[in-house]
Amino acid sequence: MADGLRHRLRLWDGALDISGADHDYDPEWDYEVSYDADGAFGDEVRAAMEEVERDVLPAFGVRDAVVFLFEDENSEDRVGVYVNGTSSYPFIGVSAARLWRETDARGFREEMLTTVVHELGHAYLDRNGVDEAELDFEEVVEAVARGYAATGQVDLGPIAARLGQASFRK
Ligand SMILES: [Zn+2]
Repeated sequence: MADGLRHRLRLWDGALDISGADHDYDPEWDYEVSYDADGAFGDEVRAAMEEVERDVLPAFGVRDAVVFLFEDENSEDRVGVYVNGTSSYPFIGVSAARLWRETDARGFREEMLTTVVHELGHAYLDRNGVDEAELDFEEVVEAVARGYAATGQVDLGPIAARLGQASFRK
């Protein structure tokens, strides 16, 4: 980490101390939360999260973030979700069980990484006051996530470019 700060990405266990957040979000309010990180994919989830904590949170300037796992009946065809409004302490949901079913063990780690980076991209936009209801950043955050999977580096260039285009349109 280049900025010397300690960055933390933690797995929601139902009662994490999130002091420092300007919200008290509990994913149980909106999702059927799964605590099954001890199953077949648990080690892969934790390995991916360690990588994100080390390499990705500093790039996005995020001190602390939380990943929760949810059951995919609630997912509306989404494997990942950023909880809007939690940007001071982002909550990222991942349907890990569904990812596990849809990938092989090797592909799982990459998809887990890509999903978390994608959703952190939405958190980054939220924190920077971008109204995604007005401007579609879906392809942009996906480009950042796929770029990370391919290179191991977070390049925020696609976001900056999109924001630049947006200001030109005004
Ligand atoms: Zn998205």
